[in-house]
Amino acid sequence: MKWPAMGYRRVTSLAELWSATAEPGAQIIAGGQTLLATLAFRLSEPGTLIDITRIPELRGISVSGGALRIGALTRHAELGLDALVRAHAPLLTEAAPLIAHPAIRNRGTIGGSLAYADPAAELPACIVALDAVVVTASATGERRIPARDFFTDLLQTALNPGEIIAAVEIPLAGRRSAIQEVARRSGDYAMAGLAAALRIEGGRVAAPRLVYFGVGNGPVLAQGASAALEGRPLDAASIAAAQAALAEDLDPPQDLHGPPEMKRHLARVLTGRVLNGFLTQTEIAA
Ligand SMILES: Cc1cc2nc3c(=O)[nH]c(=O)nc-3n(C[C@H](O)[C@H](O)[C@H](O)COP(=O)(O)OP(=O)(O)OC[C@H]3O[C@@H](n4cnc5c(N)ncnc54)[C@H](O)[C@@H]3O)c2cc1C
Repeated sequence: MKWPAMGYRRVTSLAELWSATAEPGAQIIAGGQTLLATLAFRLSEPGTLIDITRIPELRGISVSGGALRIGALTRHAELGLDALVRAHAPLLTEAAPLIAHPAIRNRGTIGGSLAYADPAAELPACIVALDAVVVTASATGERRIPARDFFTDLLQTALNPGEIIAAVEIPLAGRRSAIQEVARRSGDYAMAGLAAALRIEGGRVAAPRLVYFGVGNGPVLAQGASAALEGRPLDAASIAAAQAALAEDLDPPQDLHGPPEMKRHLARVLTGRVLNGFLTQTEIAA
């Protein structure tokens, strides 16, 4: 289908954005990689698209105050190549090539991905695993929302009307991390995936965060599986305990990929792959 008729306006500052979005029917567009498809399907019909891609305050990647700050307009391809991201949040470096195809990664932005909140998307799960903060901006100021509270339901976030994502801040912490997923074809959304982060302190697991995607209404922080690892050596027994705990943690809906039990099975398999991968790294380091 063709897009509906609509206006287009490019803004170059936050002040200009607030006045543009005060108009009825205005909707912001970043990379357009999700929004333009939904418009073609007539899932929404904005009066005017407000292009935010020239707003300098939403750009850039930097380290300050003990956190890595990633501007909302950072494209998936940039995320995959940036040296600061690789040094301080290698989970995102690893995640970037799993997102869609190169043409989409060259335009799609982290802000757009988090705002759309697709439950099968990689970046929402990664920022929950990394215990990040979503920094929002609006005409009335800034808010800082922990990533674990940001995704509220299917395609829903804690953003208020008139509020945008300005950046994501990831605390600098010496952690190990990994992401794995199962998709039908390279570039497809995941059938199920796992983004995980943890520390090893004195031979024991500390602050584990196992976050699953494609198995719920948003990223699912598996409380029981994470607790099964906390304070224990990472070994076959603790990995099996984490896998067993998923029976309580996950309640996947039936979707076009298959029934809930298939998703639970994939989640258990991914848990084994990711945690055994950490185990191998530990053995190599020892
Ligand atoms: C064929 C295809 C395959 C894909 N596969 C994957 C995949 O495997 N994994 C994956 O994660 N994604 C996938 N995507 C989605 C892709 O990652 C998009 O780039 C991303 O979801 C949206 O980013 P965007 O910058 O293009 O946002 P846009 O499409 O411009 O906007 C999406 C929504 O977010 C809002 N928005 C944009 N920026 C902000 C902001 N800063 N603050 C508040 N609201 C904002 C818009 O108003 C709109 O509602 C796929 C897309 C396509 C077309």
